[in-house]
Amino acid sequence: MQIEPNAVVTLHYTLKDNDGAVIDQSEDGSFLYLHGAMNIVPGLESALAGKAAGDEFSVTISAEEGYGTKDPERIQEVPKEMFEGNDEIQVGVQFHAQSPDGQAVVVTVVEVKDDVVVIDGNHALAGVDLNFDVKVVEIRAASEEEISHGHVHGPHGHDH
Ligand code: ZN
Repeated sequence: MQIEPNAVVTLHYTLKDNDGAVIDQSEDGSFLYLHGAMNIVPGLESALAGKAAGDEFSVTISAEEGYGTKDPERIQEVPKEMFEGNDEIQVGVQFHAQSPDGQAVVVTVVEVKDDVVVIDGNHALAGVDLNFDVKVVEIRAASEEEISHGHVHGPHGHDH
């Protein structure tokens, strides 16, 4: 079986930045995803299409095909008094917020000034080229339930 829409794919992967530093990797070879359901970034999904179990490859995915480019509008200054009572405000702190269109986003403090805190609502990997080393371990057909849910069930899959 080849990787095609509605295939459940098990991968080993290592993700590195352009300097070769490891950003992320699959744990115990148990990363599963449902192909065609946007479970993974678009560039990696298209690179995997048509591959078979046992295939190994490396692919570089531009930020545009990965987690997107950095949107300057998602970097904002917020009055410091909004954080009053919170001594934890320092660069690198992350918290949950709501974007103007109502979506839950993770926001990172990138700068603390005298009166304002600069926050960045971009994905941590926005603007980063993604270098994947991938091995396809296993491919199976998804169940109808998995297809209707848009994710993988079972061990290492989505847990309801
Ligand atoms: Zn489900």
